[in-house]
Amino acid sequence: MDEKKITLDMEKRKCPLCNTESGRIIYAECGFSLRACVDCSFIYMDPIPTFLALQKIYDDKCDFSDEVMKRAIKGLEDWGRELFYDRVQALKKYKDKGKVLDVGCNFGFFLKMLENAGYEVYGTDISEPVVRYAQKNMGLKVINSTICEAKFPAEYFDIVTMFDVLEHLSDPFSDIAEVYRILKKGGLFLLTVPNSGVHLLKSKIVSLLPFLKYYKGNFTGTPFKANEMGLPYHINHFTPKTIRKMLMKAGFKKIDFDIAKDRKYDGRIIRGCLRKLYGFITRVAFKFFGLYIASELSVCATKE
Ligand SMILES: [Zn+2]
Repeated sequence: MDEKKITLDMEKRKCPLCNTESGRIIYAECGFSLRACVDCSFIYMDPIPTFLALQKIYDDKCDFSDEVMKRAIKGLEDWGRELFYDRVQALKKYKDKGKVLDVGCNFGFFLKMLENAGYEVYGTDISEPVVRYAQKNMGLKVINSTICEAKFPAEYFDIVTMFDVLEHLSDPFSDIAEVYRILKKGGLFLLTVPNSGVHLLKSKIVSLLPFLKYYKGNFTGTPFKANEMGLPYHINHFTPKTIRKMLMKAGFKKIDFDIAKDRKYDGRIIRGCLRKLYGFITRVAFKFFGLYIASELSVCATKE
């Protein structure tokens, strides 16, 4: 899709972690800016599209025609199978049964795998068509709502999962606090978010090396220019330090980081080898130097 000139209603925003207005601009692309909070170092987009404007850009991005739905489902079944399987295995390491809620559960493929592995599963998603699919075609208990609107009872779940959701929310702390409330004591919160330090570095490298000018970044095919930081869709940018701070603010005390398993080759040999090499380096850096340089943060927080 060609880049179009789009005007969005925007609003000012305070730091979602410490609620101050002391952010200084560290990145700008296609008219959007990221700030780093001077007080807590959280990186966030400011200003952001208003709630209605955000809803509209997601609606515009999502084409739910039968053909597109079929393609999305097929794609998720193909590349998601391995990813979801790995996530089920990762979860089993912590708890091998219990009540699980997946926030932003999409079509429900991951939940179905969990159900087949013996868990009691629930899901929420704000997209109505995918919720309908999860309910009708997968037979899952999935609600069309945010986690806060769903009003689950306190201390209800053994595990809550939230994969690639927090970077999209205007108030990520409220959702994390709600996860803490609905988890049983000893319950686990497993989440993934992009590792912003790695993406900021990548965007710097791309801007400094002219032969990489064809590198596009995230969210190609949307009405906005694709960019490494995923603006305007990714409005929160976490580092190991800031995700830890936000989880601790919500009450979590035990917070562990992990590195997700490498994906298999996708048919492109050189790209596959480079990925393997990057995966190897990230594991060595993590294990021996405590450095987290994977492009995605994988976190497990326990409610004690
Ligand atoms: Zn702050």
